[in-house]
Amino acid sequence: MKPAPIRRVVIVGGGTAGWMAAAVLSRGFAAERLAITLIESPEIGTVGVGEATIPPILTLNRLLGIDEDAMIAATSGTFKLGIEFRDWGAIGDRYFHPFGSFGADLNGVAFHQHWLNLRDGALDDYSLNAQAAKAGRFIRPVDDPGHVHSRMSYALHFDAVRYAAFLRDQAAARGVIHLPRKVVEVRQDARGHVAAVRLDDGAEVAGDLFIDCSGFRGLLIEQTLATGYEDWSHWLPMDRAVAVPTERIAPPVPYTRSTAREAGWHWRIPLQHRTGNGHVYCSRHISDDEAAADLMGALDAPAAGEPRLLRFVTGRRKKAWNANVVALGLASGFVEPLESTSIHLIQQGVVTLMSLFPDTGFAQADIDQYNRLMQAEAEAVRDFVIMHYHLTRRDDSPLWNEVRTMEVPDTLKARMALFRSRGRLFLESSELFREPSWVAVMLGQGLWPDAVDPVAGAMDEAEIRAKLERMRAVIARGVQAMPMHDDFISRHCAHA
Ligand code: FAD
Repeated sequence: MKPAPIRRVVIVGGGTAGWMAAAVLSRGFAAERLAITLIESPEIGTVGVGEATIPPILTLNRLLGIDEDAMIAATSGTFKLGIEFRDWGAIGDRYFHPFGSFGADLNGVAFHQHWLNLRDGALDDYSLNAQAAKAGRFIRPVDDPGHVHSRMSYALHFDAVRYAAFLRDQAAARGVIHLPRKVVEVRQDARGHVAAVRLDDGAEVAGDLFIDCSGFRGLLIEQTLATGYEDWSHWLPMDRAVAVPTERIAPPVPYTRSTAREAGWHWRIPLQHRTGNGHVYCSRHISDDEAAADLMGALDAPAAGEPRLLRFVTGRRKKAWNANVVALGLASGFVEPLESTSIHLIQQGVVTLMSLFPDTGFAQADIDQYNRLMQAEAEAVRDFVIMHYHLTRRDDSPLWNEVRTMEVPDTLKARMALFRSRGRLFLESSELFREPSWVAVMLGQGLWPDAVDPVAGAMDEAEIRAKLERMRAVIARGVQAMPMHDDFISRHCAHA
C-alpha cells in the first residue's frame, strides 16, 4: 500500500513552541501544499516565561524573513551580549560568559592557551562582547572582517507573550488556521497514530502529522502515546521557579544576569518596559514561600506583578518524534534556563523537522535520525549546564555541597579532565556551545589547567605579549566607538 502523503499538520499549543513551529512550517510550505492548524487553549494559557535567547535566534529571524528592528520594537526587546554570573564559583566571584570569541588564535594556537601562558590582563579584556556589556554599549556587527565591530555577536531578550503574538501574526498572514479552543479528547487510529483531536466546542480536527506544543503536560506525546521521560534531576536538581516582573527604573543593560543563591539562582532579564526576574530552585532545599521571599527581597526595583510559581522535572522525552507526533518545546523536555537554551532547542527541533519532513508518509529512518539529533542537542546542553553547578567551590549550603560532589556524566567528566591537564578542548562540530563558551565557564568557575599546551609555551614571549597588548587596545577603542545600548534601541527599535 502506498503511504498517504502528509497534507494536514495540526499543532496543539500556542506558546513560543507552537507559534515558532507554525511560522517555520508556513514559511517552508505554501498553504495549498500543507494545511496548518494551530489549536491553543486560552483557558490554560502559556508558561509566559522564556525571554532570553542565544545568537542562533538571529538565523531563525533571517529564515522567517523577519525585520529584526520591527520584531524588537514589537516585543519590547533588548540586545544580549552574554551572561554575567555572580557568586557561582564562590560567594563574591563574578565572571562573564560572552557570546563571540576571546582575542584571536596566534600561529595556529588557541588564544586561551596564550592567555593562560602569560596571564596578561584579564580574560575579559580580550572579549569585545564582555567589554561592551560592562560599558552598557552595543552595536551590530559590521560586514568588514578588518573592523573590530565585525566581531560582535549578540542575541535578544524579549517579552515572551509579545513574541508569541508577533509570530502568530506572521503565521496567520501565511494562512495558518488558529483555533482558540481546548483539546478535550485525542482519537487514535488502528496503528496507534493520532488521527484527530476533539475540541471543547465538539468539533473534531483531523491531521496527518501532529506537533505537540502543549507544554509540560505533553498532551499527545505523553498523555496519549506514553512515550516516557528520561529524568535528569539527579544531575540538575532544580525543580521549581518563581517569576516576577519589575518596573523599569534604569536603562536596560545588554546582558542577562544569573546570581547563585543558597538553594538555586536568580535570573534578571532586562526588557525595554520592564525587567524579568526569577528564582530557579530545588524544592528539597527551600520551600516555595522562602524561595519567593528570597526573590522579592533581592529585587532592585518595585514589583510590577504577582510572583508566579512554575514546577518542572529536568529531562527529555525518550523520543521527541513518536509515531506521527513530534514534540517541541516543554512537551519534549526541559533543561533549566541557566544558559537560555530552550527556545534554541525549539528552533533546532522545527528546523530539523523541516529537513526530514515526511511529505510522502512516515519512514522509520527519518524518525530515528530526528530522535538521534535531538537527543545529542539536549545532552550537549545538559552537560554544559551541569558543569556550572559541579565546578562550584561553594560549601555554604546543602545544595552546593550536593552538586559539587555529585557524579557527572562521563562525557563531561572526560572533557573537564582534558581541560584540567593542558587546557585543551575537543568539541564535536555540531555542538552548540563552542570553545569560548567552555573556556569562559571553566575558567570563570575556577577550573585552571595544570599546564598550558607546550606549543604556546614554546613561542616567542615578547612577540606574543605585544600582540596581546594590541588586541586589548583594539577592543577598548572598539567599545568606546559604540553607542550606548539604550540610545541604540531608541534610535532603531524602541517599543511604540
Ligand atoms: P507553553 O508556553 O506552556 O505553551 C503550551 C501551550 O499549549 C499553551 O498555548 C496552552 O494553552 C496549550 N495547551 C495545553 N493543553 C492544551 C489543550 N488541552 N488544548 C489546547 N491547548 C492546550 N527558554 C529560553 O530559551 N530562555 C529563557 O530564558 C527561559 N526561561 C525559562 C524560565 C523558566 C522558569 C521556565 C519554566 C522556562 C524557561 N524557558 C526559557 C523555556 C521557555 O519558556 C519555553 O521553552 C517556551 O516558552 C516554550 O514553551 P511551550 O510553547 O513549549 O509551552
